Amino acid sequence: MTQQDTLISPAPTTGFSPWAEPDREPLVQFRNVTKRFGSFVAVDNVSLNIYQREFFALLGPSGCGKTTLMRMLAGFETPTSGEIIVDGKNIVDVAPDKRPINMMFQSYALFPHMSVEQNVAFGLHRAGGAAKSEIADRTQRMLKLVQLDAFAKRKPGQLSGGQKQRVALARALARSPKILLLDEPLAALDKKLREQTQFELMNIQEELGLTFLIVTHDQQEAMTVSSRIGVMRAGQLQQIGTPGEVYEYPQTGFVADFIGDTSLFDIEVQGREGDYTLAKWKGADSPVYLRSVDDSPVSEAAKVFSVRPEKVTVSREKPTGEPNVFAGKVVDIAYSGSQSVYHVELAPGVVIKALDTNRLRLVSSTITWNDQVWVSWRARSGVVLGS
Ligand code: ATP
Repeated sequence: MTQQDTLISPAPTTGFSPWAEPDREPLVQFRNVTKRFGSFVAVDNVSLNIYQREFFALLGPSGCGKTTLMRMLAGFETPTSGEIIVDGKNIVDVAPDKRPINMMFQSYALFPHMSVEQNVAFGLHRAGGAAKSEIADRTQRMLKLVQLDAFAKRKPGQLSGGQKQRVALARALARSPKILLLDEPLAALDKKLREQTQFELMNIQEELGLTFLIVTHDQQEAMTVSSRIGVMRAGQLQQIGTPGEVYEYPQTGFVADFIGDTSLFDIEVQGREGDYTLAKWKGADSPVYLRSVDDSPVSEAAKVFSVRPEKVTVSREKPTGEPNVFAGKVVDIAYSGSQSVYHVELAPGVVIKALDTNRLRLVSSTITWNDQVWVSWRARSGVVLGS
């Protein structure tokens, strides 16, 4: 087991209410789902409930199995074992087009020879059963929803990336699926357009009252759009929670590191001092002070300590009033306009990251490379991971 795999020990309590499963049937249930490709296990015994009207994000690094999990729900892959229940029925043997599910592909897969409205209407015509006027009506409604009614006669080749993305969305929504699956839907868009489209997606999901499942490796996107996130690693779900839960209370070193930025340190619990637990670490000769959210003693099995850069203050003057105050040298600065992340070496090879919002313009007094500085953080700002 690596540091990244270790599980967190104490559950936070005071002032924090973890998301509780609602007292109603989930719309989707993955029950012990495994998918093997030959001897390779792409999805490893995953159980997950998704509820009606949720915007659920599957998040994880490339190759962790999130698309495979989604494709099994869509019906494009069959689980090696386990059940997938939708609306109370096991759908594993149901053909993709008979499921109340539609998928929007990463490539958009638009027909280049068809106009925007023909692309949107395509699935409705193919499904049959609806009158021409009904299809035309529904197509217009969908194009209005994605604000493309003025582009109905254009061909995909005459559209921008963001517009193509919206045609694909309208097409996926046209057949009124209960569940819409979105596979990296915004990957092809630039940052500004991606951010704008994230809000459009959220509005559409809310307006239609649908359940959305999105696959992404962009943690910022998952945090912004979703009501809950499932973080995957190597075929397994490591943690499920609201964006706030997985960010503030990661259960593994991997989640702490993958969602946002963090500094991780090996620790060895030494004992108690008042409300604090003291631990030996390589950051300094003096111990690091730990404190759980509810003041319960930190587990002696704690092995790793994680602290986010925005919880760490960097200053030239030695701060008072915090138990965790350590001296160090600035070895790197990541400047990104609105903020800077200072990499401060506390001891040879031991670096902590501290974020400063650049409220003041860069001036000569700004902390810079090789400066001797102090870093400090509140004992409760850290998260302890155990074995
Ligand atoms: P990405 O973000 O890169 O799309 P992912 O998390 O969605 O990654 P999957 O596409 O689910 O990952 O793939 C999970 C693993 O399963 C990968 O190692 C991939 O190579 C493997 N895999 C997926 N489909 C097949 C297949 N048809 N045959 C063999 N291996 C496959």
